[in-house]
Amino acid sequence: MKKVYNFSAGPAVLPEEVLKKAASELTAYGDTGQSVMEMSHRSKEYEGIHNECISLLKEVMGVPENYKVLFIQGGAHMQFEMLPLNLKKNGKADFVVTGQWAGKAHSEAGNYLEANMVASSKDKTFSYIPKLDSTTFTKDADYFHICQNNTIFGTRFAELPDTGNIPLISDMSSCILSEPVEISKFGVIYACAQKNMGPSGVTVVIIREDLIHDLSDVTPHVPTMLRYKTYADNNSLYNTPPTYSIYMCKLVLEWIKANGGLSAMKTHNEKKASILYDAIDTSKMFSNPVAKEDRSLMNVTFVTGNEELDKKFITEAKTSGFVNLGGHRSVGGMRASIYNSMPISGVEALVNFMKKFEEENS
Ligand SMILES: *Cc1c(COP(=O)(O)O)cnc(C)c1O
Repeated sequence: MKKVYNFSAGPAVLPEEVLKKAASELTAYGDTGQSVMEMSHRSKEYEGIHNECISLLKEVMGVPENYKVLFIQGGAHMQFEMLPLNLKKNGKADFVVTGQWAGKAHSEAGNYLEANMVASSKDKTFSYIPKLDSTTFTKDADYFHICQNNTIFGTRFAELPDTGNIPLISDMSSCILSEPVEISKFGVIYACAQKNMGPSGVTVVIIREDLIHDLSDVTPHVPTMLRYKTYADNNSLYNTPPTYSIYMCKLVLEWIKANGGLSAMKTHNEKKASILYDAIDTSKMFSNPVAKEDRSLMNVTFVTGNEELDKKFITEAKTSGFVNLGGHRSVGGMRASIYNSMPISGVEALVNFMKKFEEENS
């Protein structure tokens, strides 16, 4: 079978060892004689997988005692709704709009509460992270929301805003598990799995326990399935969870642990990003539009400055075995997503291909 380097932003590349392990267990998990896909979610065997995934995530990320790990469906998108529905008390929240996902979190929340945009980088096509002035933050906001890594535009918050007692909420969909995180700085962290954690189907929510409310007085009409409490009270087994996705996340977490945990991931990711950004910065053809200090470690965007040439690059790259390098449909250009599972050899091979393409086309 032809092997390619997959630079997709998501669903994205998974570690080859993980895929092989999943393949070896596909028809029969352990001595159960059943595939994980065929198991009752109430079985002892599945519960073992489920709880192991939670405890591995807690261990790998260093999740403190007073946080719960929840598995929810509906993608990161559904968190744009669940957050305002569940955290609403005073009816106000602050948002930094640094791209499309951050913008959706802001606009969706606006259906339920007063959603205040404290800053935006829309003026320069989201190519930087705005400097924040904490005197402009809403004093009695129910939460303060950021999208920590902007998958489409290739920026990230290198420094977190200081929100004092206001719970900081982070969409970590495209950066979770890429480097160590101090969880205690956050009220809620959420991430869809399909960027850096596993296949699509499950979204992980790490929530400080005091933010899990009975919603009786403020938002009495929140549906059962949209309440964090439903998931927290039932160990995310109130209804059938996406069992196979959770199993795959467990395998990815085992792989991360075996490969040195999040500090090793950080070193590995910084190395890949610097190889690629250096190649772009020293090229006469390619450029990266992002402010240097705000560059993402996970999603590297670049352009030639000529749309036709961008298209040619993407087509020829694909023929040479470098796939999914097209930028998001809203921005065009190129984007190489270099999540944990992308090996250094993949980035080095891409850089060599870029050099060759530049020679042949200038
Ligand atoms: C991919 C992505 C989303 C959307 O995730 P879905 O699971 O498709 O809802 C939201 N936020 C960020 C940062 C993303 O990268």
